[in-house]
Amino acid sequence: MTLRERDKKHLWHPLTQHKLHPDHLAITKAKGALLFDDTGKEYIDGIASWYTCMYGHCNDYITDKVSKQMKELDHVVFAGFTHEPAIKLSEELIKILPDNQQKIFFSDNGSTSVDVAIKMALQYHFNQGDKRNKVIALEGGFHGDTFGAMSVSGLSVYNGPFEDFFIDVERISVPTKENFSEVKTQFERLLTDHKVAAFIYEPLVQGAAAMKMHDASLIDELLAIAKEHGVVTIADEVMTGFGKTGKNFASEHLQNLPDIMCLSKSLTAGLVPMAITSCSQQIYDAFLSDELGKGFFHGHTYSANPTACAAALAGIELLQSEKIQSRIKNIIDSHKAFEEKIKNHPKVKETRQLGVIFALDLNIEMERYGNLRYQLFDFFMKNGVCLRPLGSTIYILAPFVITDEQLNKIYTTIEKALDTF
Ligand SMILES: *Cc1c(COP(=O)(O)O)cnc(C)c1O
Repeated sequence: MTLRERDKKHLWHPLTQHKLHPDHLAITKAKGALLFDDTGKEYIDGIASWYTCMYGHCNDYITDKVSKQMKELDHVVFAGFTHEPAIKLSEELIKILPDNQQKIFFSDNGSTSVDVAIKMALQYHFNQGDKRNKVIALEGGFHGDTFGAMSVSGLSVYNGPFEDFFIDVERISVPTKENFSEVKTQFERLLTDHKVAAFIYEPLVQGAAAMKMHDASLIDELLAIAKEHGVVTIADEVMTGFGKTGKNFASEHLQNLPDIMCLSKSLTAGLVPMAITSCSQQIYDAFLSDELGKGFFHGHTYSANPTACAAALAGIELLQSEKIQSRIKNIIDSHKAFEEKIKNHPKVKETRQLGVIFALDLNIEMERYGNLRYQLFDFFMKNGVCLRPLGSTIYILAPFVITDEQLNKIYTTIEKALDTF
């Protein structure tokens, strides 16, 4: 039996309607920017496996560090105990995070980092005798699939069975030059009753919403208003973090720093799951008390797993290296040139780019092409390029270590797709 056949017997895949999509491609190996399937065919990983493997798959520098850590200390309870990898990681993160971030709290994935952030914000107010029960979020955002994270994400058909159990969320439109005065008024109105605990946003790029990008100055203005009203600001940088926007964190493009930040995905370079919720001293201090109950009683079994910390440390080291920084600049320039080349193509409606993130919206009627997204995916895979279009948007978010030749192959394959569909 092939892997594909064995897969069908017992596995239930994420985000999949198995009746419509029963087949899953078996990947047996990965190196650098390449994935290899069970027939030996290679694919350029144009989305870094959901933006995780930014330093390349099976990066020797990182795997060596992780394997060394594994042989020394695999795991220990992180309540009442501590260890060097976690301490060192907190020190290295604080060096590169926005200036006001001071404390590092561990969990396991992007969704839990958001749940932690929401709980922190609610309890921050609660501990000060201020019962605030609402969160403001941007329409069309994505923050994860656990209950808290799902609640603050954009409404979708997938949420039907759970909507009655959501936390109390108010959604505002993503600010644009055209709608800003309206959005600002709505935002201010929501804050008047002092019931809003937090404002959560994906800074500058809404990843799952098809890499939609928004203006830094507008979101900045909302953040300033939130701060005036004592609302805790939460930057979900699970996707944008660690160099993808051309700076270490997207929040660095803004004047108003977030009170809380969520990090995961490329935090551990694709090796093992881990997430971090960081916060300012002011947030942390609201939990210090002689009362036990004012502490933050949230924890996960694998909190600060030393192996995951070792992967994160190696990743951060690489991120700051001359080599990766110059690759980032190189990719940005290549994307700009590609954007110039195709932006006037009749099948292209809009192009956008920030850092190493590039996206284009197709100028075709979805109805006419039916399941276009799946057809495009099959086309790309047939051509040895792994890109997963979101609706009618094709985006590239490749590992930093992708070669010029590989990047060019992604571009020419996209051009070929534009001429085919
Ligand atoms: C992927 C993502 C999440 C959820 O992370 P998981 O690890 O999949 O739970 C949350 N926020 C953003 C912005 C993401 O891109």
